[in-house]
Amino acid sequence: MSSLVQEPKKVKKWMENIVKEEEIEKYLENGRDFIDDTQIESLLAETKNPEPQKVRDIIDKSLSLARLEPEETATLLNVTNPELWEEMYQAGGVLKRKVYGDRIVTFAPLYCSSFCVNNCLYCGFRQDNQLQQRQRLTQEEVKQETETLISLGHKRLVMVYGEHPLSDIDYIANTVQTVYHTRVGQGEIRRVNINAAPMDVDRLRILKEVGIGTFQVFQETYHHQTYRQVHPRGIKSHYQWRLYALHRAQEAGIDDVAIGALFGLYDWKFEVMGLLYHTIDLEKHFDGVGPHTISFPRLEAAVNTPFIQTSRYRVSDQNFKRLVTVLRLSVPYTGLIITAREPAHIRKEVIPVGCTQTDASTRIGIGAYSERQSQQELDRQQFEIGDSRSLDEVIQELAQMGYLTSFCTAGYRCGRTGRYFMDIAKKGKVHHFCIPNAILTFKEYLMDYASPQTREIGEKLISEKLFQIDQGIKPKVEEYLQRIDQGERDLRI
Ligand code: SAM
Ligand code: SF4
Repeated sequence: MSSLVQEPKKVKKWMENIVKEEEIEKYLENGRDFIDDTQIESLLAETKNPEPQKVRDIIDKSLSLARLEPEETATLLNVTNPELWEEMYQAGGVLKRKVYGDRIVTFAPLYCSSFCVNNCLYCGFRQDNQLQQRQRLTQEEVKQETETLISLGHKRLVMVYGEHPLSDIDYIANTVQTVYHTRVGQGEIRRVNINAAPMDVDRLRILKEVGIGTFQVFQETYHHQTYRQVHPRGIKSHYQWRLYALHRAQEAGIDDVAIGALFGLYDWKFEVMGLLYHTIDLEKHFDGVGPHTISFPRLEAAVNTPFIQTSRYRVSDQNFKRLVTVLRLSVPYTGLIITAREPAHIRKEVIPVGCTQTDASTRIGIGAYSERQSQQELDRQQFEIGDSRSLDEVIQELAQMGYLTSFCTAGYRCGRTGRYFMDIAKKGKVHHFCIPNAILTFKEYLMDYASPQTREIGEKLISEKLFQIDQGIKPKVEEYLQRIDQGERDLRI
């Protein structure tokens, strides 16, 4: 692993050339972005104590797969009656099954570089954190990490980078290519998503060329003043450069983009509203194509990062479940990602109200998959994770809950992205393709990587799910299952 140092002058020069104001200005209206803090606060104030009938009408609108308007989302956020919340949890589950079926897409994060020019107060990778041991994986190390992840059974990765000249676009593009070229037997990574700093359109075009799946940028907080406070210096202090990062990705032809907020920096209700406004603005500019997924990480402890303990907006478990539910109801056709930051019992409780993706076997120290866990590894983490169970354990629990783990990447590799994906999602037809492909990729996992116990539980689940799929497609799925039994791989509908 390389421990690299960069000349401060060169780093400064590099930083000065990242933000391109002209790539932001075109989206502003009268110089303003689409987050109007005062309007959000007023909507949240005006919709307090909603009538139960009004709430039920809004739930019905969600169940018809329509996206909610800000006033409706604010109303749901203001529900206080526990019975109404129960109805909302139920509705979230109904929606999830209707749009996505009983499946959970599973991936692993791959942390590549912890060098960072920014100083986000909440992050272990921030520049001022002298206790952080900076690391950047070499291409050989990326290959080793990938081999380990393939050997566990993974097919999908999200690759994560700090913002630094050492992890600029050439490095990112090379690491993505290394992952796509790595094989272990018949195993391979079939989709690489990226979580990296906002980029200009030219850099994003390079990401498009190397074949990334989703480009993720979390706004962290939509509240302008809080944003300034928690990002005191560095490129990331530019709120609007970040806010329009995914507009630029769309411009560059990356039509699966992912938004998120880091819950615990400001009022959780405000952040849900921010995510909704972000969705609406993307839909407005890109022909109805909003975010492919929404993430809602909660602030976790990190080495030498005292800000986290002082934040007065940390989200309780109950409010966490509520915020996921309101997101599910507000944007019925968008994927929701719950991560291993959350402990196992929370994931078990919150997945049923509407999550569609999760990570498993997660290690977030740089180079951590190929090494054994050590104190040193903990000092190389961005934050502490809540669920360190193996992929097999997570899959077994999900199967016991009735969920198929899907490693499917067919949508993206068959061009079912962006507008095409949104159209089928909005009509509630995602699961017509996705359940059969979930079954096929789950079967591959059971054959190649599962423990005997998981295999037994999983095979039983597949037999049950076969009864629930479209009868027209069933014979083809059965034929493919037989062919997988005989050793073929990567069969998809
Ligand atoms: N450096 C890039 C950026 O900031 O966009 C991408 C990688 S950053 C490592 C990925 C995400 O980790 C951030 O967007 C933030 O939401 C999340 N994160 C940072 N510190 C965290 C913490 N203490 N607990 C939970 N999530 C955190
Ligand atoms: Fe750097 Fe991202 Fe961490 Fe901020 S959140 S310090 S930009 S790695």
